[in-house]
Amino acid sequence: LPALRRQSWSVPSFVAADGTLPKLEMEFTVSSKKLQKMVRHMVNEMRKGLEADGHMLKMIPSYVVTRPQGDEVGQYLALDLGGSNFRVCMIELRGQGQTAIRQAKHVVSDELKTGSGEQLFDFFATCIGDFLKSLGMDTREKRSLGFTFSFPVSQNAINHGELMQWNKGFSASGVLHKDVVVLLNKALTKANINIHVTALVNDTVGTLVSHAYRDPQTYVGVILGTGTNAAYVERMSAIPKWTGDKNIAEMVINTEWGAYDEESILPITSYDNALDRASSNPRLQIFEKMISGMYLGEIVRYVLIDLISTGELFRGNSTPKIQTPYAFDTAYMSRIERDHSLELSDTKAVLENLLDVHNTTVQDRRIVKHVCELIGIRAARLSAAGVAAIVTKMKRLDACTVAIDGSVFEHYPHFANRMRDALRELLGIMAENIVLEQARDGSGQGAALIAALHTK
Ligand code: BGC
Ligand code: MG
Repeated sequence: LPALRRQSWSVPSFVAADGTLPKLEMEFTVSSKKLQKMVRHMVNEMRKGLEADGHMLKMIPSYVVTRPQGDEVGQYLALDLGGSNFRVCMIELRGQGQTAIRQAKHVVSDELKTGSGEQLFDFFATCIGDFLKSLGMDTREKRSLGFTFSFPVSQNAINHGELMQWNKGFSASGVLHKDVVVLLNKALTKANINIHVTALVNDTVGTLVSHAYRDPQTYVGVILGTGTNAAYVERMSAIPKWTGDKNIAEMVINTEWGAYDEESILPITSYDNALDRASSNPRLQIFEKMISGMYLGEIVRYVLIDLISTGELFRGNSTPKIQTPYAFDTAYMSRIERDHSLELSDTKAVLENLLDVHNTTVQDRRIVKHVCELIGIRAARLSAAGVAAIVTKMKRLDACTVAIDGSVFEHYPHFANRMRDALRELLGIMAENIVLEQARDGSGQGAALIAALHTK
């Protein structure tokens, strides 16, 4: 038993040699070789996406062509719609890379996610109005705003773009293929708020830009949260599909890597397939469904149900709770992976209090923890392959800061270290030049900065 009190983040191997468990280990483990193959393939897909639309990776030009100098000043508003939250922010750029932020955070309810788009945008307008009032500001005074909208949008200007698809459980009606800035402006006008949107920004782009305000070596922004995605700085000469202004040197590209779905490379299991089929966006965002916070716990749940059905777990006893879609939060995985107690007592607490599973044995809990580890490690390794693909594509293996935001990277134990391990396997000594840095609340600030750059 003392061997179980590991503090490390590597794959443990203690399960019996028969039954479903060894099979799980095989299915969820991604070898270095597999990851290497994925990096090469992803780089190639990135190239294709830059050549023309309609490929696996959307590679969306963001219209963000300059990165901040750090000397921008002024007060800017930002709206940040992520996967689970919606924030209204007032950001003060103080120069020298310094910012001050005031914000109001709201949870986006399932009703809002799946109701009518009009209701959703009206809700945004109400929140903005309330926020301005709470700061003692006049809603009729003219202001400019950066809008962080964390979904794939095909942009045709810095402040215009149409929603290409909803992800992360959103399905609000009347928004698909519409210009989301027009929808927001309509709602603001209705609510008598005198604001105009000067920038429409993906959260990855915002994260990149806000981090670059402090650290000019930042060329990549990644979100590992409810959903996942990455943006990076590309040379214009490497974007053949760009037909706009030719006098630009570089542009931030929103890769939408969550859509990566090469079946011959990704280690897609029957559990992943079951999750995908039951999701609100079947056959879309396959990579995202193997990596991001909305789905990791749900994959665990599918595996546990399977182990219960074969009698290998909980003596074959199920509970209604564990049969409920999305009942196993990714935050539970974090707790379980953090549980280094001899008897896995916090794992016991999670199972009892949150999943109604009682009378578990230590062996049961070891199995549950092991399943979490397998799925958590797979997610981190796949994320690392994505990062390796981007820095390889950029040819910036000599020095590059990758700004990473999102609940999974921030809160999931060992995630960052597991990513670093995989990066080392992929890039060898060059991995030391790639700095994975925690970014926080960058997406809204980035939108404010971009608004500032475009009001200059
Ligand atoms: C969206 C991306 C977004 C990512 C992280 C994905 O579902 O397609 O646009 O950047 O989530 O929020
Ligand atoms: Mg966010």
